[in-house]
Parts: sequence; C-alpha cells; structure tokens
Amino acid sequence: VTNTISPIASGLAAISRAEPRCVGHISAAEGGVDYPISWSDWARDAAWAQSFLKSRGIRAGDFVVIVSTGHEAPWYGPILDAVYDLHATVCPLEPARFEAIRAEMFFKRFPITTIIGLDRELGLAIDQSIGLERVLGKMRSVLVRSDALELVTARGVAAQLIVPIGPALGLACSERLAVHVNEAEWAIADEGGATLSIAPKPQRIVAGDTIRVARTFGTLKGHRCSCKHGQVAFAPM
Ligand SMILES: [Zn+2]
Repeated sequence: VTNTISPIASGLAAISRAEPRCVGHISAAEGGVDYPISWSDWARDAAWAQSFLKSRGIRAGDFVVIVSTGHEAPWYGPILDAVYDLHATVCPLEPARFEAIRAEMFFKRFPITTIIGLDRELGLAIDQSIGLERVLGKMRSVLVRSDALELVTARGVAAQLIVPIGPALGLACSERLAVHVNEAEWAIADEGGATLSIAPKPQRIVAGDTIRVARTFGTLKGHRCSCKHGQVAFAPM
C-alpha cells in the first residue's frame, strides 16, 4: 500500500510512543470516569471495526459519512482509522445542527454509500433542508445513534444502531435491531438491575477496572445470529 506516509513509515515505526494513546471519559454509575486506551487497544478496536465495515460491503473508493466529535474518539476514532485503512473516503460531520450545510454539500457532490453515527439534531436539520429520505434512502448502510432511530425510520429508511455501551462500542447486528460489542475485549454482565457491569479483558490497559454504567441496553435472551461480530446481542430497553 502506498500513501503519503509510506516514505517515512519505517522512521515513524522506530519512534517509541508513550502510553496511553488517549483517555476516554464516560458517565459511570458512580459518576464520571476517565479510562486510558493504549495504542494496541486502539489497533485491536480498529481491526474489529474494520471486519464490521467489510461485512457491510465498505471498500476502496467508497464515500462514508461519519458523524462524530473529538471527545468521542474512544468509540469513533478506531472506526475512522478502519475506513481509512480500507481506502474509502471519510466525509466528516459533527453531531450538530450547524453541520446541515456541509452535510448537504457532501450529499450533493459525492456518491455516499454509508452513514455512521447520525444523531437526531443533525438528522432533523438535514430533514428540513434536503430531506432525510432523499439522502439516506438509497444508502447501503445507515447506522444511527439511538436518539435518531425514530426520526429516520419514520421517513421509511431502514436504519440500525451504533451506540457506546460504557467504554465498549455497540455496533449493529446484521440480523435485527440489536448491537454487539467486541467480546474479545469486554465482558458485559447483565444481571437485570439498573446497571451493566463491563469488565475489560486482560490485554487492555484498563484491565482489572470493572466499570458499571446505567442499563439503557439489555441482553437479548436467546439471540442466535451468524453475523460473526459477537454472540451476545444487546437491544434498547
Ligand atoms: Zn449478530
């Protein structure tokens, strides 16, 4: 693979990098929690995201709209890297009303095949400018945040979910309105109470720190699927 980084890649690889890669912040049951993400955590998260994107048919030459903002890098950063590594083009937007004009420009100029992370605020703004059905109706994949699901489906667009579950990222199961997390990285225990507890696997830099978050998603009992992104599926409650 040749790109603008190629001539200096070996030099870059020789430079030692300080840990962590970044620090994420989540609202846990006990209040705000900061948690670090190492470079290798990030690389595994990006590899998992890439296998998901490939399963959705995203390939070199595609144009992908990703709606995210800087502090969401723990979840959306590995997705951005995965899209770049597939040699697709990212059209970046922020989850905000002021992005409606830039969004309209992207939708008119480029053959967008996929949108990831659309929120209700930007969704409403797009709906009032060029219309959601017009821009989303023919896309290969439409992955929205929970707060945009009702709006998008009301316009007749088949959408699925992308949603953080604590420090883990929930990505749509291809078979129904549910999400999977990367089970090689996180063990989520759902005891049916008000919280989910999320234990990082030993390879993660935060290993040993189990995090509890409000249970807005619950385990789907008896879920069987062959989408290969996870065995346990979570659905909105
Ligand atoms: Zn599945």
